[in-house]
Amino acid sequence: MVHEWSLADALLKYVATVYGTNIKTLRLRVGVLQSIDKEILLFSIRELAGLHNIKLGEVVIEEEEARFKCSRCGYEWVFKPEEFNTETREAVHFMPEAVYAFTKCPACGSRDFKIVKGRGLEIAEVVKY
Ligand SMILES: [Zn+2]
Repeated sequence: MVHEWSLADALLKYVATVYGTNIKTLRLRVGVLQSIDKEILLFSIRELAGLHNIKLGEVVIEEEEARFKCSRCGYEWVFKPEEFNTETREAVHFMPEAVYAFTKCPACGSRDFKIVKGRGLEIAEVVKY
């Protein structure tokens, strides 16, 4: 909760500084490995927009897939959390690094891989009124 709240706060300060306080659409992209609760983030954004006097229309939160690249053979693949059980998904959600314990390169079997995508929180689009 505190995490999402401070993220939302930083995000809105940035948006207000760069785009002003009349925002029609705010589209965010959250990596599936990022430990953010989207519902809480959305709630925090709504609450804080009011406190900061930001007129905020639609808020859309999209998920960004997780993409890994093997350091040994260079193979790239997409990690699909839905292919794993709930316990694994939760472990990865709270600690993205846990993914190393549950998956390996489908091509060569190495656990030496990099997380190329799926960890960030970024602003995908801002539309002003
Ligand atoms: Zn490999």
